Amino acid sequence: MKHTTNTLEKQLTGICGKDLSLCTEKELYTGLLCLVQKMAGQKESQEGKKKLYYISAEFLIGKLLSNNLINLGIYEDIKQLLEAHGKSLSRVEEVEPEPSLGNGGLGRLAACFLDSIATLGLNGDGIGLNYHFGLFKQVFKDNLQQETPNPWIENTSWLTKTDVSYQIPFKGFTLTSRLYDIAVTGYENRTNKLHLFDVESIDESLAGEDSIAFDKEDIKKNLTLFLYPDDSDEAGRLLRIYQQYFMVSNGARLILDECMAKGCNLYDLPDYAVIQINDTHPTMVIPELIRLLMEKGMDMDDAIQVVSKTCAYTNHTILAEALEKWPVSYLKKCVPQLMPIIEVLDDKVRRKFQDESVAIIDRNDLVHMAHIDIHYGFAVNGVAALHTEILKNNELHNFYQIYPEKFSNKTNGITFRRWLLHCNPKLASMITELIGDGYKKDASELKKLWQYAEDETVLQKMLEIKKDNKLALARYLSETQNIQINADSIFDIQVKRLHEYKRQQLNALYLIHQYLEIQKGNLPAAPVTAVFGAKAAPAYTIAKDIIHLLLCLQKLTAEDPKVSPWLRVVMVENYNVTLAEKLIPACDISEQISLASKEASGTGNMKFMLNGAVTLGTDDGANVEIHELVGDENIYIFGESSDTVIKRYADGSYCSRTYYEADPDLKDAVDFIVSKKMLEIGSEEHLTRLYHELLNKDWFMTFPDFKDYVKEKNHAIADYQDRMAWAKKMLKNTSEAGFFSSDRTIEEYNRDIWKL
Ligand SMILES: *Cc1c(COP(=O)(O)O)cnc(C)c1O
Repeated sequence: MKHTTNTLEKQLTGICGKDLSLCTEKELYTGLLCLVQKMAGQKESQEGKKKLYYISAEFLIGKLLSNNLINLGIYEDIKQLLEAHGKSLSRVEEVEPEPSLGNGGLGRLAACFLDSIATLGLNGDGIGLNYHFGLFKQVFKDNLQQETPNPWIENTSWLTKTDVSYQIPFKGFTLTSRLYDIAVTGYENRTNKLHLFDVESIDESLAGEDSIAFDKEDIKKNLTLFLYPDDSDEAGRLLRIYQQYFMVSNGARLILDECMAKGCNLYDLPDYAVIQINDTHPTMVIPELIRLLMEKGMDMDDAIQVVSKTCAYTNHTILAEALEKWPVSYLKKCVPQLMPIIEVLDDKVRRKFQDESVAIIDRNDLVHMAHIDIHYGFAVNGVAALHTEILKNNELHNFYQIYPEKFSNKTNGITFRRWLLHCNPKLASMITELIGDGYKKDASELKKLWQYAEDETVLQKMLEIKKDNKLALARYLSETQNIQINADSIFDIQVKRLHEYKRQQLNALYLIHQYLEIQKGNLPAAPVTAVFGAKAAPAYTIAKDIIHLLLCLQKLTAEDPKVSPWLRVVMVENYNVTLAEKLIPACDISEQISLASKEASGTGNMKFMLNGAVTLGTDDGANVEIHELVGDENIYIFGESSDTVIKRYADGSYCSRTYYEADPDLKDAVDFIVSKKMLEIGSEEHLTRLYHELLNKDWFMTFPDFKDYVKEKNHAIADYQDRMAWAKKMLKNTSEAGFFSSDRTIEEYNRDIWKL
């Protein structure tokens, strides 16, 4: 130990060029970054003939310094080394910018997978794009979300510029690409790579300081500026196609080059490469690979065969509006070279199957990207047990009948290195003291914790750690966002992207109901702090109206002296991985309240469970599996079943007004949105639009679940008072969370699909 600390000190001092005690935090950060990159580089491996390429439009990797220090096994040494020089590692962490390469759960999943792939010693790299400004940085002004660029690339960053560069053809012009790599360290194992392609001619000055508006038609300068550019107009939609093609054409060329360098003759490509297509955004990799193989002299039927044995597809959603369909005319405008190939792919499908619903190009000349993946990939997977069943029985039923052997379930997971060891070191060390550290590599060992279910000292310790984490969160929010919260209240947290199907609006209706009850003198069993964090897509009007409602409730509850001791609503700004790492360990009640059948899996639910929060949720996505693992006693489940919901949509029988008129509590809560009090705080336009949306549509059926939600939530709040009984629920959740390690998920992908 002493020896490594000495060598580490010499190396770091050498890089920084002066005594560590004289360095600023920024200097220490860049010094550590260089040290980590050097050490990670020494663990790169050429082992393995076959390689996995995980292609994804997003990689929400979070800050990398601490995670890499943990994975390289030097976190404690560095922490002590800095302390010996009067420096704090957590201060150094603060200066690292969070890479803005993702949006939400899908991108975070890709990041967890890369960690597990390297940790399991598998040969697998990520492929994506190097966005300069990310999705956007969220700022609140006048109780509304505003979007500004979210730059993260500094002179010294985790990106390493490589020699790899390609000429990517578009209609009328060619772009020169450049590959940048980020090292992906495995936990006490090999280093893999995240390959991020950029445009040589990118021009950051196209976007202003405080707006995400830019010239959408200047492709040479704008292609990698933003993730998911606003697609509410045609220029935005075309830009998304340019981005997708740029990502997959570069990726396909890199894959072919790497395989040929290893001796692949291209007919045996499936022995050298497997490509996992993360949602439909990278789907064009299929026709593009076929095209490139034909350019190299392969005939088309052979190329189709080879590619079909190389590509596998993960479906992430059943929301119809999220399944991509590109007009033929758009593809012809951007990447005309792909259209003849897509037409042949469609033609082959139409010759084999009469069923119009499985065609690739429909009668409106829309190209169904998921259909390309299913016909011309060898595997299709859903991301939680319920989700996969819904795909097989409903959404993709016609495909399942054709290719039952292609379908399988791979329930999502999370990396415990980031979501336990890094974000909750106190809980991790308590677990290590109790059951040893085998769980760090074999998460199923967490089950051993349950032997302490009746041990009051252990339960007490869990409560103490939770309280410490709550105090730390309170301090952090006070220092960084000027939000004051009471660490003695129940922390009830809903953090995730803002979407109507995730139903932040249902939570808001509960909070209004509680507010009205407290006004009437009906006090809750305990004080509650309801915490939200969520970004809304810039063009998603109703989602932004819901943010407005939450921010108005924040002001309302803070300023009402009768209510604020019992109920506070707070919304953190710019929810991201860094904030998640602070919020999740401090949570008492985890809100997972999507409309049953709509959340494919969720991974936030798993992070909360692991950190000893108790779930309040619907039987949806992976909540179903959490429910089965912890049992009825240790979770609060409410709401209508996915079967009922699916039937309701099918027969079109849902009418929100009927519920509104039948339940006075619900009516009062809904009416309050446009009450005099609210209109004094908020904007009439936003509040009335939301009110009408709920009353006349409520597409994600919050009203039928309202009563049951209020009941279950109040039940949880009452149960919280028996601290020992609650601590036992916490322990059960942590001890059953092992199943949700992404190491388990990746072992399943490898066993059934990748076969590395
Ligand atoms: C885990 C995570 C998500 C996904 O959360 P869900 O509740 O599964 O939607 C989104 N954003 C961040 C920053 C995350 O860490």
